[in-house]
Amino acid sequence: MVSPAVQSATRRIDELGRLVVPVAMRKRLGICDGDLLDVRLEHDRLVVAKAQPTCALCDDTNDLEEHDRKSLCVRCIDSVVARHDARARVSVSA
Ligand SMILES: [Zn+2]
Repeated sequence: MVSPAVQSATRRIDELGRLVVPVAMRKRLGICDGDLLDVRLEHDRLVVAKAQPTCALCDDTNDLEEHDRKSLCVRCIDSVVARHDARARVSVSA
């Protein structure tokens, strides 16, 4: 186990290429089960970072709200609500 103050750890990669990130590091970075991580190569180093959340509809990264583990921006939420309200008005008047 890694203490919260430790910044590195040695882990064995399994036969499927999976790596377990120490729980102390996940807690420190606010990484939870199901979160997305970006994995990239920087020269000869593998860098793993918490993925920047984006809107599931337009990929915007600003003004996000989470619904059922999906992020949506307020503009898309407003658009969906307006569309829903318009449909409701049509069905009531029909
Ligand atoms: Zn959006």
